[in-house]
Amino acid sequence: MFRDIDRDQVIVPTDIKFPLAVVDYLAWKEPSGHRTFLVLEDKASGRPFAMTFERTKNTEAVPMMCNWCHAVRPASDVALMTAAVTKRKRVGLYLCSDISCKSNVLDKPSVHDMRETLDKTEKTIRLNQKIHNFINREIL
Ligand SMILES: [Zn+2]
Repeated sequence: MFRDIDRDQVIVPTDIKFPLAVVDYLAWKEPSGHRTFLVLEDKASGRPFAMTFERTKNTEAVPMMCNWCHAVRPASDVALMTAAVTKRKRVGLYLCSDISCKSNVLDKPSVHDMRETLDKTEKTIRLNQKIHNFINREIL
């Protein structure tokens, strides 16, 4: 399920049981916090797709906005996350470093988040679209 380019880096927590039941997506961070893993269903094929993000060392001291869920969080929680496209090319964007975007949309909005008129359902739809658009445009 993980791409060949990511496969040797994957650490699966013991509390994740297979087969996976994935609604929207599933993400977890490795204990060091350096890598975050993302699993979702590829809409085109209906098959699982999984990839790895690496957190870049953050030099920003100001709160940042997650590109996917629009949560505004301290630089410790939103960071520039990169993914390999090929062995020599990586792409990156600012994301919640643990990809807890769905939880931020549904359960844990912050007063610092961007004020928006979308409700939680619309934000969840937008979140899923942003994730799939990123993968389709930048990764596949
Ligand atoms: Zn987010």
